[in-house]
Amino acid sequence: MSIEELARANVRALTPYQSARRLGGNGDVWLNANEFPTAVPFGLTQQTLNRYPECQPKAVIDNYAAYAGVKPEQVLVSRGADEGIELLIRAFCEPGQDAVLYCPPTYGMYTVSAETFGVELRKVPVRDDWQLDLQGIADNLDGVKVVFVCSPNNPTGQLINPQDLRALLEMTQGKALVVADEAYIEFCPQASLAGWLTDYPHLVVLRTLSKAFALAGLRCGFTLANKEVIDLLMKVIAPYPLSTPVADIAAQALSPQGITAMRERVAQILDERQYLVSQLRNIACVEQVFDSETNYILARFTASSAVFKSLWDQGIILRDQNKQPSLSGCLRITVGTREESQRVIDALNAEKV
Ligand SMILES: *Cc1c(COP(=O)(O)O)cnc(C)c1O
Repeated sequence: MSIEELARANVRALTPYQSARRLGGNGDVWLNANEFPTAVPFGLTQQTLNRYPECQPKAVIDNYAAYAGVKPEQVLVSRGADEGIELLIRAFCEPGQDAVLYCPPTYGMYTVSAETFGVELRKVPVRDDWQLDLQGIADNLDGVKVVFVCSPNNPTGQLINPQDLRALLEMTQGKALVVADEAYIEFCPQASLAGWLTDYPHLVVLRTLSKAFALAGLRCGFTLANKEVIDLLMKVIAPYPLSTPVADIAAQALSPQGITAMRERVAQILDERQYLVSQLRNIACVEQVFDSETNYILARFTASSAVFKSLWDQGIILRDQNKQPSLSGCLRITVGTREESQRVIDALNAEKV
């Protein structure tokens, strides 16, 4: 048997997540991964690398609980929110039997994780206004154990209507978990569902330090849920998910000063987003700029593939969303520094229509 044949059939069939880093490119303007555009300084205080770290470092958990307004027992920390997605599928979905449901166009890791574990994918596309098709979800809930909803949604940038999220939580009560992916919630904090955990034992909220906290390279994310859910996830998590330096830096980022600095960064990005949106709306090859609650902007272009390629060749790396359902002609642009916005604007203005 060849090595290829030794592998699990679903792994052989798998298309890995096309992460911004894997897609490559030789850019000097990186606006394809929704990262914060500049590095924040940090120092290490822990010098005890001879010892294994705590599985759930207390300082990190306590600081995050205080920040999110939940109890420490309602917080799990992991290697990015992506590991949270994986743990939920591993703990709740029986391979070859259960399904996860999500509503494209949305974040790609729900598919990749489900496929890796041999769990069925149930896709219920959003309506024309990018809101949930609640009837479609209701009709497809059989065998579904986890429903993923990203709000604000990546890549469309808009919030899911809270009354629809309530309807979804009512409909799934006693049947399935509802996972609200809040990777971008710092850009619209009033919309968080964390306060709903007391009402819904099957609600899960995903968070990350990769976006507004400017720590994508740290790989640190959070799952908020009631203790029953957290206890189950604790059964399947690795014994030492976070290294000591990661926990050290995460605890600092979540200190009162760290939170204040994060809020200043968010204000800076929101200003820059306003500037970029207003400029994009005056550019000939830009057909439509969609409202965003996040640190990225989705826009529809005439000849988007040519525009994407042309900017790529000039070292400006955007994210092509053209292949996603209902997003033909769309590119996603991360809000970066003013210099980066200007490079994008100048390059787009130079495109012939
Ligand atoms: C970036 C992102 C994540 C992943 O966050 P990590 O903590 O870096 O793993 C999860 N969900 C969405 C919607 C994202 O855009």
